[in-house]
Parts: sequence; C-alpha cells; structure tokens
Amino acid sequence: MKIAVSNRDGLDKLVQAVVRGEMRLHALPKYLSAAERAEIRRQFLEEISGETLKHVGTHSLDTERASGRHCENFVGVAQIPLGVTGPLRVRGRDRDQSIYVPLATTEGALLASINRGCSAIRAAGGVVSRVEDVGMTRAPVFRTGGIAESEDFVTWVEANHDRIREVAEGTSRFCKLKEIRPTIMGSTVYLRFRFATGDAMGMNMATIACDRVVRNLIYPETGIECVALSGNQCVDKKPAAINFLEGRGKRIHCEVRLSAEVLRKNLKVNRDAFVDMQYRKNLLGSIAAGALGFNAHYANIVAAFFIATGQDVAHVGEGSMGVTMIEPIEDGGALFSIMMPDVPLGTVGGGTALDTQREALSLLDVDPDPAQPGAATMRLAEILGGIVLAGELSLLAAITSGDLTSAHERLARGVDTDKQGPRP
Ligand code: NAP
Repeated sequence: MKIAVSNRDGLDKLVQAVVRGEMRLHALPKYLSAAERAEIRRQFLEEISGETLKHVGTHSLDTERASGRHCENFVGVAQIPLGVTGPLRVRGRDRDQSIYVPLATTEGALLASINRGCSAIRAAGGVVSRVEDVGMTRAPVFRTGGIAESEDFVTWVEANHDRIREVAEGTSRFCKLKEIRPTIMGSTVYLRFRFATGDAMGMNMATIACDRVVRNLIYPETGIECVALSGNQCVDKKPAAINFLEGRGKRIHCEVRLSAEVLRKNLKVNRDAFVDMQYRKNLLGSIAAGALGFNAHYANIVAAFFIATGQDVAHVGEGSMGVTMIEPIEDGGALFSIMMPDVPLGTVGGGTALDTQREALSLLDVDPDPAQPGAATMRLAEILGGIVLAGELSLLAAITSGDLTSAHERLARGVDTDKQGPRP
C-alpha cells in the first residue's frame, strides 16, 4: 500500500510502521524522496530514544546525492567547526602562491598554533613543497597448490604484463598501471598493483581495475583462485612499513629555512634547544615506542584538512606517518623539513563532491583541469605538506619554549594562564 506523506498524518503512519518493525530503516519505500526517508528515520529515532535531532536534521546537503552516493540510512549531518589558517606561502613545483587553508576540527588551539607556524613561514620566505606521485596500490591475494605453482603463477603474470595492463587501463580514462610486485608465501601469492589515478585518490579505481584483471584474465586463463581482492598487503587504511618505505598515494617533502631572527622573534626558541628536543622527542622517542610516525602531530592537521576537503578520513592513520627533521645551518639558523611517505588524497571522487568540501577545494584553487589531469591533486598535496609543516613547526616550538599547556588552557578551556605561576 502506498502511504501519502504530503501531510503529517501520512508521515506518522510510516514512522509507526518502522517502530512496529513492519518496515526496515534501510528499506523505506522508493516513492518517497530522500529527504522524506531521512525525516522518517529521524522521527523513528526520536520516538524510541525520547531525544530530539533538530541539529542533525538541519543542513544544506543535496539529500538525494548524500544518501545515494555517500551515506546509507541517511538521517542528517554531524557538523564540525571550520576555520581558516594562513596566509600560507607555498612554493610548489609550478606555483608560488599565498593562500588561506580551511581546516575542520573540534580541537581548540590547533588553528591558532598553525597560524603561528604560517606567520613564521611567511617571515622565512615560504615553504618549499615537492610531491612524488607514487601511485595507489591494491594487492589481491591468491591461493595456489604450493610453492611450484606459486612460482609458475608469478612467471605467468610477468609474461602477460601487457595484457594485464590493457585490461586494467580499460576500466578508466585515468587509470595507468605503474607496476605489479609479486610476493610468494608458500601456497599464497600477493600481487601488489600500483596505479597512477589522475586527480582521484584512486582506491575505487584501483579496486575496480584489479577486479576486472582477476575476473576477465587471471582466473579464466590460470584457474588460480583470488581469495580476496584486498589481501592486506595494499596496505589500505592501516599504517605499515611497506607503505612507509615504498610510498603510497603521494609522497610529500617540505622545508623551510629559518633564520636566527625568525627562530627568536616568531618562534621564541633557542636553536640548539629546538634541535635537541626534536632529536629526543620525535626521533628517539618514536624509536623507543616502535612508532611509524617520527613526528609530533601530523594527524591533527591531516585529519582537519581531510574533513574540510572531502578526503577519506580513514586514511588519516597511514597519511600521518612521516619524519620531521631539524638541522642546524649557518648563522644560527635551522633547516626544518618534513617527509610524508603515504598520503592518499584527491580533488575528484568520494567526499570531494560534497558542496562544503567543494567550496574548500575552490578556496585552495585546486579545481581539476581536464587539460592537465593529476595536476590539481599534486598541488593539493603541496598545500597539505605546507600546512602540516606549519602545524608541526609551531607545536615543536611551543614544546621547546614551554608554551604548550598554557595555550591549550587559554584557548580550549578559557583559563587565564597568567595566574598559573611560573613555568619550569
Ligand atoms: P572514484 O569516484 O571512484 O573515481 C573517480 C571518477 O572520477 C572516475 O569516474 C573518473 O573517470 C572520474 N574523473 C573525472 N575527472 C578525473 C580526473 N581528472 N582524474 C581522475 N578521475 C577523474 O574515486 P576514487 O578516488 O577511485 O575512489 C574514492 C572513493 O573510494 C572514496 O569514496 C573512498 O571512500 C572509496 N574507497 C574505496 C575503497 C575500495 O576498496 N573500493 C577503499 C577505500 C576507499 P572515469 O569514468 O574515466 O574512471
């Protein structure tokens, strides 16, 4: 029976049908609009919980798109404050530009601290940023009859590389096969595919390409069974040594040359104390912990940037691996640099299509150019590296000068830190 929802009575009847278990939340009638289905779900939740979802239901999203492409059982939004930092001067390969960088976070003091880093970078003449397009990886896992068959299988893959490339690249205008790296473990074989994916982060693209290669070529011709399209050696959404060493997505390098004056005036640090703190905290401390991130807090900035620009936030773990380096240079200055080996990000696909995230990408002037596929995302990665460096620089300076806790108390808790007594 088709229940009209043009009036409150019709909508209430549908809500009651869900409450009684006669209708499933994910299977509300297709003749309803996405907005109506979301309202029914909210009312159902309000009724069974006794809570109101006024804020969750208030937004400007395209509900059809959000519920159809991004989030099943859609009920509304989780809002996160968005601020800007900058201007950040990013001296990339092709562009030297000062920009404001939008960041979404709930952590008070984060943007203020990054802003201080941006100001030090401006005083130092900008951050030099370079990006390698390492490529997106996917590693299907196969079961063979034993070592000899595993060897034969890898030989077949190598001999048929061009045919595999043709099938993989036939799945998208932007998918280009860079390599296939085999690993044999007895009767198990991993084929680690690596693709260039244009302006897309590329995880869907790589998965679809591997799926077609397995279905249309490998299995019909070899009979070797693919156990899982993702064999976990990819490694997707988990920090891992292979990604650190070989890279994944984009590998980002950034540096700023800090004069003695910038260290003293903008960052309020003694150069030698700065270098020593970095060595004992980020380097030795990470070794002592067996950590893969030899940095203080890349994750803070990567997460805020990913949310603001519509990246897959589950990539923050791997995307926050990296090394911060501070070395003494001439005249009391310091060369401050960072290396991020595994940053998956894009300017098309996934959450980049959402309206607020599109606006943030436009602020960064990184709308994809059909004449230069991939260039917009390389620029986005240059900017991300620059803003991560700004945040890392400021935090490490605050730790060195003993300023960190007071800034957090003042900005996140509203405490007057002048009354806390002298710092050790
Ligand atoms: P996608 O949206 O699946 O693919 C990109 C699309 O944009 C393709 O249709 C491509 O064209 C088109 N496109 C237009 N201009 C482009 C350009 N300049 N460069 C590249 N592509 C362009 O995006 P994706 O990055 O591969 O996947 C992102 C999504 O994957 C996210 O939502 C993420 O959460 C999800 N994800 C999936 C997996 C998985 O295993 N499937 C794992 C992790 C994350 P064509 O039509 O020519 O291809």
